Amino acid sequence: MSTIKYLLPEDRIPTAWYNIQADLPRPVPPTLHPGTGQPIGPDDLAPLFPMALIMQEVSAEQYIEIPAPVRDVYRQWRPTPLFRARRLEAMLDTPARIYYKYEGVSPAGSHKPNTAVAQAFYNKEEGITKLVTETGAGQWGSSLAMACAFFGMECKVFMVRVSYEQKPYRRGLIEAYGASVTPSPSPETNAGRAILAEHPDSTGSLGIAISEAVEVAATHADTKYSLGSVLNHVLLHQTVIGQEALEQFALADDYPDIVIACAGGGSNFAGLAFPFAGKKMRGEADTRIVAVEPAACPTLTRGQYAYDFGDTAHLTPMVKMHTLGSTFIPPSIHAGGLRYHGMAPLVSHLLDLGQIEATAVHQLDAFAAGLQFARAEGIIPAPESNHAVAQVIAEALRCKAEGVSQSIVFNLSGHGHFDMQAYMDYQAGKLQDYDYPAEEITMALAGLPGVG
Ligand SMILES: *Cc1c(COP(=O)(O)O)cnc(C)c1O
Repeated sequence: MSTIKYLLPEDRIPTAWYNIQADLPRPVPPTLHPGTGQPIGPDDLAPLFPMALIMQEVSAEQYIEIPAPVRDVYRQWRPTPLFRARRLEAMLDTPARIYYKYEGVSPAGSHKPNTAVAQAFYNKEEGITKLVTETGAGQWGSSLAMACAFFGMECKVFMVRVSYEQKPYRRGLIEAYGASVTPSPSPETNAGRAILAEHPDSTGSLGIAISEAVEVAATHADTKYSLGSVLNHVLLHQTVIGQEALEQFALADDYPDIVIACAGGGSNFAGLAFPFAGKKMRGEADTRIVAVEPAACPTLTRGQYAYDFGDTAHLTPMVKMHTLGSTFIPPSIHAGGLRYHGMAPLVSHLLDLGQIEATAVHQLDAFAAGLQFARAEGIIPAPESNHAVAQVIAEALRCKAEGVSQSIVFNLSGHGHFDMQAYMDYQAGKLQDYDYPAEEITMALAGLPGVG
């Protein structure tokens, strides 16, 4: 039984990203100014982002051309392979056909360079010399550091303190690419100092690190801010994944009944799912699309769909999204990339429209699934991707119980080579599940801005 690999030739890298905003039956609710509560215009975002990315944020064009220098970088690892997981199918004894799109073949080991390279390119074009950002597990920080190295730019990364301490190798990789790393909360910003005054032992959160990075960008003319998920333009750049997958399914002479990906801020999910969701909304195909999140940070399944801030210090604009409240600090699960209080507005909107489903998985079930996958397919998934794997296995076993042969594809968003400590802790029985932290979420939701 061998795994089948569907590879596209290099010249089949998509020439355009797919913009789902063109196919929405209702537009996504507008972004609001943090001070006035009114819809923002392009100029309001200009201190943080280059104009090209701001225009992508609000574009309703169905396809947006990928600039040649970005495609030139993509060419190093794209098109990424689509695999048919024949050995996993055999292990599960399922009639389901299981496919995975493997984004771990990028140099940084995940899907994140797909947008990091594009963002560095557009900033460079507009004369920016330095990018500042935050990182949770370190995947985004290392991807942006690599992209900045490619385009000769400086890069500064605020890294959530718990990951800075738990994941020294990701920090080392960011530094190897030439960027600087600061544990967050830090004494370098007003936002960081305010948190430290109240909680000197704070382990940090993405919401806090975003505040620090936004503050640095807003106060330095040569520096702009870069976000690794959530925003419309980030999701847009990731659609190169699903665009390729559509072509690869044509090669395989198949089409997915179910599309699955894990969701932290929503970018790898959107990247694979949006081109399929577009076909669904245009009435060309019918597909179940499932976002999988950690039970410890259940944004889509237990959060509120409301206007909220993207960060803890409330420096960012307000967007309508599924949120657990901007002051919520999620439990320290090992899938650091899934510990964000909010969700991409476009993903939240699709859930609200009934175009996608969401489900939550516990950490121990996710690691068990990841090991089963590794023993069948050889690839150690990132702890984030394990959440998708757990749902795939559940769907494949349902197919077996029902005696139906469905086609399932998931996004293997990254490899877990930097996360072996988490796997070792799991196998030593040292990891635990965190219950839905209902009280803390209620408290954090009480602080929603209450607009819109
Ligand atoms: C960052 C990350 C995620 C979560 O972020 P999304 O924006 O939801 O994709 C998932 N998997 C990996 C490997 C990551 O690095």
